[in-house]
Amino acid sequence: MVFAGILPYNSDIFKAMVYRSSRYYESIQLTEDFYCYIWQGKGNNCNTCLFANVLRGERPHVIVDPGHITNEFGEACFDYLIKAMEGNGFKVGDIGLIINTHSHPDHCQANELVVKKSGAWITLSEEEDEFRNTLGEKLYSMLGVKVPQFTPLFYLKEGSLSLGTKNKVELEIFHTPGHSPGSVCLYWPNNKILITGDVVFYGSIGRTDFPSGSLSLLKKSIDKLSQLEVEHLVPGHSTEYGSIVKGKLNVERNFQAVKLFL
Ligand SMILES: [Zn+2]
Repeated sequence: MVFAGILPYNSDIFKAMVYRSSRYYESIQLTEDFYCYIWQGKGNNCNTCLFANVLRGERPHVIVDPGHITNEFGEACFDYLIKAMEGNGFKVGDIGLIINTHSHPDHCQANELVVKKSGAWITLSEEEDEFRNTLGEKLYSMLGVKVPQFTPLFYLKEGSLSLGTKNKVELEIFHTPGHSPGSVCLYWPNNKILITGDVVFYGSIGRTDFPSGSLSLLKKSIDKLSQLEVEHLVPGHSTEYGSIVKGKLNVERNFQAVKLFL
């Protein structure tokens, strides 16, 4: 456990609101309109993020990676996510856009249920959509996992992405291949929040042993992300060290630590 103890929790830096802990999701509010749902179950599932009340119209929420419907332990991940969101006053039916960091089923299997309940649009990168429809499809079938079925409305490209009216949320999209060929990370400069999907975690990095995974590409991606000024690094999964890396110094230390794997 090389990294144990070198990334201390700093309660002075972390001023986010932890609303409630349930058996399956911990809901953490990082800004007025940004919530993280940290998976707490036994089996595999991703963490989910929600930009609340950003889009114009009747479906104002934007969700990042709604996760599994049901995982390998039979845990009803999506039902629990709905409950956790409702605990904060948000309905799945009010989601207008789904952003997928990548196409692995533990991040996007629930897309189809979100669309069913809300008619939400979906976006991910073109590279990842190509992977999903070719090698990815074969891989998931071989693993006995139902291939997530959805049709993206548009593709995420590197550069800025404005959500909502009056540029309420201005994101920077980074293409960060390595774990998956079309992985993206979302950076929110105004709040110095970085959503990393499965590229980098608390004290760890994404695995590269899936088809189209590449350690050298992952290294380049992580090098690129480590240049950003980040106060909250929100990974796609928690590790034994924690979930969200909080505070600029701890984020820098985390990048230094994970680079030892590369
Ligand atoms: Zn993944």
